[in-house]
Amino acid sequence: MTTSLVWFRNDLRLHDHRALSRAVQQSDQVACVFVVAPSAFERTSFGYERVGPFRLQFLRESLIDLRDNLHKIGGVLHVVVGEPEIVLPRIAADIEASTVYCHQEYATEETTTQTRLESSLCESGCSLEVSSANTLLEADDLPFPIDELPELFTHFRNKIEHRTEVLSPLAAPTRVPRLDEKTSAKIPDQPIDSIDLLCRNPSRDDDQATYVDRAVLKFVGGESAGLARVDDYLWKSDCLRTYKETRNGMIGANYSSKFSAWLAMGCLSPRKIYEEVLRYEKERIRNESTYWMYFELLWRDYFAFVVAKHGQHVFQVGGLRQESLDWNQDTAWFDAWRKGKTGYPLIDANMRELEETGFMSNRGRQNVASFLTKNLGIDWRMGAEWFESLLIDYDPCSNYGNWNYVSGVGNDARSFRWFNPIKQASDYDPEGSYVKHWIPELASVPSDKVHTPWKLSQEEQHRYGVVIGDHYPAPLVDLFQSADVQKQRFMKARSHR
Ligand SMILES: Cc1cc2nc3c(=O)[nH]c(=O)nc-3n(C[C@H](O)[C@H](O)[C@H](O)COP(=O)(O)OP(=O)(O)OC[C@H]3O[C@@H](n4cnc5c(N)ncnc54)[C@H](O)[C@@H]3O)c2cc1C
Repeated sequence: MTTSLVWFRNDLRLHDHRALSRAVQQSDQVACVFVVAPSAFERTSFGYERVGPFRLQFLRESLIDLRDNLHKIGGVLHVVVGEPEIVLPRIAADIEASTVYCHQEYATEETTTQTRLESSLCESGCSLEVSSANTLLEADDLPFPIDELPELFTHFRNKIEHRTEVLSPLAAPTRVPRLDEKTSAKIPDQPIDSIDLLCRNPSRDDDQATYVDRAVLKFVGGESAGLARVDDYLWKSDCLRTYKETRNGMIGANYSSKFSAWLAMGCLSPRKIYEEVLRYEKERIRNESTYWMYFELLWRDYFAFVVAKHGQHVFQVGGLRQESLDWNQDTAWFDAWRKGKTGYPLIDANMRELEETGFMSNRGRQNVASFLTKNLGIDWRMGAEWFESLLIDYDPCSNYGNWNYVSGVGNDARSFRWFNPIKQASDYDPEGSYVKHWIPELASVPSDKVHTPWKLSQEEQHRYGVVIGDHYPAPLVDLFQSADVQKQRFMKARSHR
């Protein structure tokens, strides 16, 4: 009788689950285990909850969905509390598993855990088999070793495109043989709803109406909801055909795919999405938009590989370039930024959306990250940690990789690039609908004035019911002067390299 254990990590799905499929092929009985690690719920270095309310709820829902889907094909999800490298070897020994199967992750903490797990399993004669299925491409299939990954995305793309194949996703297993009752009783699992760490925050159901009204989408965790979203975005709403034109939007469910939350928790496999895109190209249309979905998923892969190459540097203040920049940690300015009170409506609307819903568009993320680092000169890690806490789609590689990139300590070819939020607002929110949606204080200000409220005369302020400095803040800094100060700092630091 061969027994194996599948360790579910950020891969809470049954389709394209190489680890589970391998275990089912190789074993007579399979224990499916998810480990709730207390260390993953600690506070970040600047003191924020590592897993804020949106992701916590999404995680709970994803686990429940996985439990129910496994149940339908005979399997059982055992949810246990503890550090994986400690509890998994114990469970493996108790149930006499010969192999533990899991998926590769790239972020430093996750790889450290995996290495520790491997060595403790090895001591007890159990092996660890690691597959890859959370990226489009496999790191091992790249036409270069990971430490020769190009520092620029374009070079990476040119090297792999048309050369490295995206593997087809695996179908979900039709049957997962569960452990016999006696063996199963040896696993110290707990019902999902009884685990304090998972139920810390009250459900948002109480204020669901307001939340759903204002959010771009009601994100529901789990593979079932993730697959339904793919079906909806591609097939029912037919939005993929115009994705390239709409993807820089900020209002509504369909300007972009919103796949990120399901991808981050592994409820969706990127290869499954890619397969659907290919089918869409065959059955509906193949155009720049369909290509662009692949292009964006490739960015996601790229950041995973960047972290695989540069490891912990991506999470440190100097970033992967190991830049010595003179950041400040001004808490008053930082609080103004995170609470949406900088006086720049585009920045404030985005930060309020993040805090109220756990989501922000890509356009918004680029702008707020640029403002924090290139105008306020604040330590980019404070922003990255705030995102880590709140984002429903938080993914360590994409988050820290993008923060490195935007703040200037990562892979950006241009020396000092910043986003002018007034210009960005006029390009991407010309009517001011987005800022009015999130900043009710500015609701009556005409569209052509809403992005620069500090220019309103006393009489206009009175007319539109908003007193600057009272109802809505005056700008925290002058845009051009502050960017210039930061630029000098950057240039000085670079000249010393
Ligand atoms: C400062 C900053 C922090 C970010 N943090 C995260 C994060 O923690 N998790 C995360 O998934 N994305 C992050 N992103 C990338 C991007 O903003 C989101 O992936 C995107 O907004 C999610 O919306 P969507 O699924 O509708 O994207 P779509 O436009 O529909 O794109 C499809 C998919 O492509 C991938 N993708 C798109 N853009 C990027 C990108 N720039 N980098 C990596 N992958 C991308 C995502 O998986 C996304 O779901 C960050 C970007 C910035 C600038």
